[in-house]
Amino acid sequence: MATIFSRIAAGEIPSFKVAESEEFYAFLDINPMAPGHTLVIPRNVEDDYIFNLDPKTYEGLWAFARKVALAIKAAVPCKRVGVAVLGMEVPHTHIHLVPLQSEADMDFRKEKLHLSPEENKAIAERIFQEYEKL
Ligand code: AMP
Repeated sequence: MATIFSRIAAGEIPSFKVAESEEFYAFLDINPMAPGHTLVIPRNVEDDYIFNLDPKTYEGLWAFARKVALAIKAAVPCKRVGVAVLGMEVPHTHIHLVPLQSEADMDFRKEKLHLSPEENKAIAERIFQEYEKL
């Protein structure tokens, strides 16, 4: 059965795309901890636990996430891009990439930001443009 994230990667559910490749997809988190908070997923491997991925998909996912993180750093003012893997909510492996000004930006319990569609669109486009340059 398709997960919400595989449906997003397939374009069946809308998302703010920031990067894509044949195997992987990156899009803005709908409830961001910081502007530019991005999720990186394998398109077709829906296992909900990252350490269950086959080695090739696992390594490819991190290599893709690295490029996306470089693009985020270039597009969104931040000191660095933090990375986390939780998977407590959505049963489809995903990596969180979060632009950080301080440690507090990576607190999954804090109240999430509410950005307008226009703000999300502008952020996603900036990251996408930076990703395309890499
Ligand atoms: P977790 O599974 O604990 O890593 O959390 C799942 C993350 O996915 C949360 O940060 C949610 O805000 C995010 N999320 C859930 N549904 C969507 C969606 N349709 N589009 C973008 N992000 C989502």
